[in-house]
Amino acid sequence: MKILISSCLLGEDVRYDAENSSVAYNPNFSFALKELFMDILCDNEIYSFCPEVQGGLSTPRDPAEITSLTKPFRVETINNEDVTINFLVGAKKALDLCLEEKIKVALLKAKSPSCGNIEIYDGTFSNNLIEGQGMTARLLNENGITVFNENQLKELKQFIKTNN
Ligand code: SF4
Repeated sequence: MKILISSCLLGEDVRYDAENSSVAYNPNFSFALKELFMDILCDNEIYSFCPEVQGGLSTPRDPAEITSLTKPFRVETINNEDVTINFLVGAKKALDLCLEEKIKVALLKAKSPSCGNIEIYDGTFSNNLIEGQGMTARLLNENGITVFNENQLKELKQFIKTNN
């Protein structure tokens, strides 16, 4: 199955701080989960994608949070720079890739203002999480693409089994 995956989960240094969120090297993941992650990578066709880089932002970059979760959306950096258009472009490019390649499922990084699929930071840069989706996760979901995060690997595996 074709799967869109957040580049940082694959170990690419594309995060705002020029680090990555590698699952394979994350000490908080059990070996069994890392093995499951590697099985998913090996058994499927992986499309690595970072919406923020694809939206034209540099690495490193200032951290950003969503300050308006409904239209008109607004995403701001910690220095109050409006980066909404970059997040919208990144999300649209992710959707275009999924539609072109007929990708039906994505594994995206939890809590990110682009990739988070269940909760995100509240826009105040105070480490508070709220229920909500990142800009890319939301657009993919709205277009019928199922989004999981790295803490839902078993659910993703089940999805692949059911839909393959
Ligand atoms: S935008 Fe997504 S893929 Fe890119 S660094 Fe942030 S969480 Fe990772």
